[in-house]
Amino acid sequence: MIHVNILKDSLPLIYKTMKTKAMKTKEEVRQKVINYLKTNPQKVYWDYRDQISVEQAQKIISTEDGYNNFADEVFEINIDYINDLEDYTLKNALSELNEEEVCLLSGEDWNGDTGDLVSELRDEFLDYLEVDLNIDQLIRNSPNFVFFYSAGVELNGDYKEDVRTIKRFLKILMRDTTHDQAIMEAVGNAGYGGTLCFAFSCELEEWMWMNEKPTTITFRNPYIVIPNHSNGSGWHSQMKGFEITLPFRKENLYLDEAIKYSYTKDVCGMSSDWCADTDFQIGYNKISKQIKKSRISEHMEREMKYDETYKNGGCTPGDMNINRHRDVYYRNEFPCGNKCPHCGTFWID
Ligand SMILES: [Zn+2]
Repeated sequence: MIHVNILKDSLPLIYKTMKTKAMKTKEEVRQKVINYLKTNPQKVYWDYRDQISVEQAQKIISTEDGYNNFADEVFEINIDYINDLEDYTLKNALSELNEEEVCLLSGEDWNGDTGDLVSELRDEFLDYLEVDLNIDQLIRNSPNFVFFYSAGVELNGDYKEDVRTIKRFLKILMRDTTHDQAIMEAVGNAGYGGTLCFAFSCELEEWMWMNEKPTTITFRNPYIVIPNHSNGSGWHSQMKGFEITLPFRKENLYLDEAIKYSYTKDVCGMSSDWCADTDFQIGYNKISKQIKKSRISEHMEREMKYDETYKNGGCTPGDMNINRHRDVYYRNEFPCGNKCPHCGTFWID
């Protein structure tokens, strides 16, 4: 204090110059705030109970832009919380400034209210207010799901024919009866036919490398399943000691529990670990063999489109899920039934 006074009294000119130098420009203060925001990024930390639903997981694995679309969805749902986090960061950044710097920044005298200041300066720093949604944590939080990999092979319920079709697909000679029991058990109990699938249980996280485009998928001790999702039937059996490598086709992978008449949940009422003792591995070697696109994946793509249309306020003629139409009324005249006034879809009694 004394030192300053001496300086002030004896060397007024120099003091004045020093003070001017110490004073910052508005741009310098701006940079200070920006640096703070850049070095203190905000991240959302999810509760362990915040998990991805099976429907969301299905979209992530099966659609090209699934991961990003999911991130957008999370953003939209949590927008208020994210705004609060952004305000909180900006508030912290501004609290690092002294009064002089604050006035420089806002261009007027500051009334001392940080809240006012945050809303006033929000737009100016919007580009630097980034919140990491921490989607990966949400993915890690999620439970194990039952995955079905469709072989793209449709079975029609004819016992002899279906056994032959499966053995051929698995490249098992007809005279080799090692796995006949397992195959016959599945076919014999899946009287309505269905699609030949391989079931396994794993975490969603294991599929997050999907962009690397795997070319093969190998199953050891596979569970073959013949689900029929349209009428809710099917059967499974395990082929112990068997191993098969199939071409990998992303559209043929789906989450059983994301579909109506899920085999695991609706047909058998099983928990998601029933097929945990099968081993799968993905590969990147070139493979010339191709696999047919699964009919189930087409069904699911259609379902997703219906959902999307409904979410955007519309509905689709012919979509028989009555919950995806609005203002449905009951028609008393013959033929009686429910009718959607918007698209005309009719559910006859
Ligand atoms: Zn409608």
